[in-house]
Amino acid sequence: AEDPRHVPNRAVIDPSAITQNTRDLTGLLEEHTALMAVVKADGYGHGMLTAARAALEGGATWLGVAHPASALALSRAGLDVHILTWLYEPHTAAIVLPEVISSGIDVSVGSPEMLTLVADAARQADRRARVHLKIDTGMGRNGVLPEQIRQIGAAMREDDFIEVVAAWTHLTSADDPTDPSTDQEVALFDSACDALADEVGPIPLQHLANSAALLTRPDLHRDLVRPGIALYGYPPVATDVPLRPAMTLTSRLALVKEVPEGHSIGYGRIRSTSRRTRLGLVPIGYADGLHRAGSDQCDVLVRTASGDHRAPQVGRISMDQIVIDLGPDTDASAGDEVFVFGDAGEAPTEPSATTADDWARAAGTIPYEVLTSVSGRVTREVR
Ligand code: PLP
Repeated sequence: AEDPRHVPNRAVIDPSAITQNTRDLTGLLEEHTALMAVVKADGYGHGMLTAARAALEGGATWLGVAHPASALALSRAGLDVHILTWLYEPHTAAIVLPEVISSGIDVSVGSPEMLTLVADAARQADRRARVHLKIDTGMGRNGVLPEQIRQIGAAMREDDFIEVVAAWTHLTSADDPTDPSTDQEVALFDSACDALADEVGPIPLQHLANSAALLTRPDLHRDLVRPGIALYGYPPVATDVPLRPAMTLTSRLALVKEVPEGHSIGYGRIRSTSRRTRLGLVPIGYADGLHRAGSDQCDVLVRTASGDHRAPQVGRISMDQIVIDLGPDTDASAGDEVFVFGDAGEAPTEPSATTADDWARAAGTIPYEVLTSVSGRVTREVR
């Protein structure tokens, strides 16, 4: 691995933001509703264990990850809480699921074939698998169709190695509170739960709320909510909850140089200077996670000897570098810290309003993708 002291680009993670965000979100829940912190994709780019520990401190009592390998990593790290994993395929599942089940990790089943995989693994582990049956209410991904419920319900009831602990689904459109799909999906989910209960008896847990549903639909909180993005400070819907971004992406100026008016910048010359100015070269590019589609639209914040100054990113984003326009009168010099997005820390003279959301909008994507795109060559530093 590269020595972090040799790398200028850092994703500085503030676990106290994740803890406080979790606390604020649990504050919206009824007493009986638990919170599963979704820490898949390396904790949305923040570091899975950092995110998990911070969320547990804030009141989460469950952890959710896509991959069984991630669930095992959480369990092996000694995080003694409920863990759910939901995405696997037969080749690797045959290897990993027996250990997942013997570690007491809950497993999602989203098809008859997945039930067979889980039941086989449970026999191998000689331990009952705790199963969350996933219902496909419109996502078209994992999940049994409503008409398959009775058959799979009967199969689960008859298998001593299967314990049904939950029914769950994932909503397609909760980030648009006006979209009628949510109510249609909930109606499908509710009737699927009724059919399942007819086959297997009372279902201990129901869960379907992501961050958006948590924030906008208290009626959908049920027994457990599964926020991801909101924990990291990016609510996908308008909210009064004061969520705080947990990641700050920083770099340092590699070079400052004066150029004349009309000087072109970057591939394709999409930008030229409108006046004599000083350009700053920042050694961070799309291979570090800045989306090239977001070129020439966002500001960064440069911390110079005289304070913090906004500077627009100009021209196309390259693989390893971007250029910023520091203005003709800047006192910036090579080595100065650059805040690409996030919180610029103690008492900035100018707020770093640039967020992962701004970069996402510029690139026509969502903050989820910006956060999880911060690549392996960016050093993670826990504040
Ligand atoms: N539940 C499941 C199954 C997911 O895949 C995700 C993430 O996409 C979440 C919950 C969390 O969603 P969000 O980050 O929108 O809160």
